[in-house]
Amino acid sequence: MPPPTSNRVLAMVGILATITLGSGGAATQLAPSRTQVVLLGTGSPGPSPERSGPATAIIVNGQPYLVDFGPGVVRRATAAQQKGISALNPINIKHAFVTHLHSDHTVGYPDLIFTPWVIGRKVPLEVYGPPGIKAMTDHVLAAWGDDIKIRNGPTERDLPEHSADGYRVNAHEVSPGVVYKDGNVVVTAFNVNHGEWGTRAFGYRFQTADRTIVITGDTSVSNSVVEQCNGCDVLIHEVYTEAGYARASPEWQRMRRAYHTSSRQLGELATRARPGLLILYHQQYQFTESTEEDLIREMREVYRGRFVSGHDLDVF
Ligand SMILES: [Zn+2]
Ligand SMILES: [Zn+2]
Repeated sequence: MPPPTSNRVLAMVGILATITLGSGGAATQLAPSRTQVVLLGTGSPGPSPERSGPATAIIVNGQPYLVDFGPGVVRRATAAQQKGISALNPINIKHAFVTHLHSDHTVGYPDLIFTPWVIGRKVPLEVYGPPGIKAMTDHVLAAWGDDIKIRNGPTERDLPEHSADGYRVNAHEVSPGVVYKDGNVVVTAFNVNHGEWGTRAFGYRFQTADRTIVITGDTSVSNSVVEQCNGCDVLIHEVYTEAGYARASPEWQRMRRAYHTSSRQLGELATRARPGLLILYHQQYQFTESTEEDLIREMREVYRGRFVSGHDLDVF
């Protein structure tokens, strides 16, 4: 299978790495890897046909690790699979990390639970996130209770793809710090500033043998992002345009400042964070009539580093 269409796949190294975690953390052996980032959804709440809801896959040695499950997540995973990223066959998605429980980041949750089950996932989904993810999981499973009963009933249970337990979810409510590790990756959650979500809004840092990747979820300017990146290989950060902000109502301006990050703010933050590549996602144009051209121009004015405005199914 040829590599996915992208002229931006970065150089990889394949050495066995020993990663030493922060103070008090144990050293972890990670397998050699060629880590890929696949943007499955770069949208914001507005239902853009070109931008699915927030969802990002980090792929390490054929294993996908998903961050957020906005609307359209499973269909975008299949689209990536069809572009040659076989790891994103939806039945392979077994680990997901949710940044916060805003609907635009989570309304793909029942899709992520049930669609791969119907097509053959046989093991439970492992989901990590802030407090509230367990209750959301319980409610989703309860809401589709009749579906579960009928799919496990006398007709559907004999289908070759079927397993009785593939719909199950182990939901892990986690605190900032290392929340997951295996032979491929160490995942660290950290708090970001996202208005009234308080301590229930996370970014995540993925450390693999060849790359360090930081993804913010939704955030206003957060020093924690600078600390966690600190020269990381890839920083995936949300953004809105100053042009759109200038045209927005006072109510929208207040919300933007408390919950999100402008191009100018991001340029200053990324200058301090020093990522090898800055990927802009969750770009907010929908309500404010600004464009990607505005965004790129604004970023060029304030940021000297390498950046790209991400689109769905881009691979890095
Ligand atoms: Zn949010
Ligand atoms: Zn959002």
